[in-house]
Amino acid sequence: MKVRYSYLKQQFSNCPSLWKKLKLFVATGDFTLGKELKIFESKFAKLIGTKYAVGVNSGTDALKLSLKAANIKHGDEVITAANTFVATVGAINELGAKIVFVDCDDTFCIDANKIEEKITKNTKAIVPVHFTGYMPNMKKITQIAKKYKLKVIEDACQSILGSYKKKNAGTWGFSGAFSLHPLKNINVWSDGGVITTNDKKTFNKLCLLRNHGLKDRDHMDIFGYNSRLDTIQAVVGNWILPKAKKISDQRIKNASYLDNGLRKIKGITIPERKKNIRIVYHLYIIFASQRDALLKYCIKKRYRG
Ligand SMILES: *Cc1c(COP(=O)(O)O)cnc(C)c1O
Repeated sequence: MKVRYSYLKQQFSNCPSLWKKLKLFVATGDFTLGKELKIFESKFAKLIGTKYAVGVNSGTDALKLSLKAANIKHGDEVITAANTFVATVGAINELGAKIVFVDCDDTFCIDANKIEEKITKNTKAIVPVHFTGYMPNMKKITQIAKKYKLKVIEDACQSILGSYKKKNAGTWGFSGAFSLHPLKNINVWSDGGVITTNDKKTFNKLCLLRNHGLKDRDHMDIFGYNSRLDTIQAVVGNWILPKAKKISDQRIKNASYLDNGLRKIKGITIPERKKNIRIVYHLYIIFASQRDALLKYCIKKRYRG
């Protein structure tokens, strides 16, 4: 069997309705912020289940602007997962905060039982990462955060429509950071990101931060960034969002097919599939007793399509 690394080429090879939308959009000249972005943000917030969503230019910036909105400063300590993509850590570093790692468990996510021992008087936030599309024990993490008055910023870049106890990734904390990178589960044609939040004040601050701190054309409230979600990408986003549920359902179905097949092979262990977690499988990972040999074999058999 030939297995592709991604279906990106097929995904957009035949989409006349999107091209039609883009053509109409280009004729409006509404290229920065604007109507399509507003529509995308309200659709995204509705999909995830938060009051607000703010489009930014990447998942990395979704994290960075969240941390900035949470007032994370030089010297503050931010707890995050040791097992993550480098961008999580890069975003914390950008603000001059100290990165404090907590190890993961066999779900690939932060071990919530090991967080409390890392908290000091300088700890200001926890950034749990819903790595591979799995989720850590968010009940416990939000309880710890409440006890120590810490902000929770979810790195939900790999977990659009993932959930813990039926509550979606990106709805648990101060804010949730999503990526729309071409290789993520819900993707656009370039870099893109979204921040979800339920707090109006945070929403307003994030809107300022992504657009140079500009309140309107002539008034600047705070120093900010140039981190708007490209409006062309918002058009692509508006086309793909109605397909989001189907895409994640299909990934879950594919994973279950793989689980059932691979489970029968000696030397392969399937990670626990916890009932109260909806895993959306941005990545599909198994444990192998002869990992290096298996990897070598897979590389030899690789499909170059
Ligand atoms: C992809 C990813 C990011 C960064 O997203 P970009 O859109 O590529 O900037 C951050 N954290 C995790 C866990 C990711 O997988």
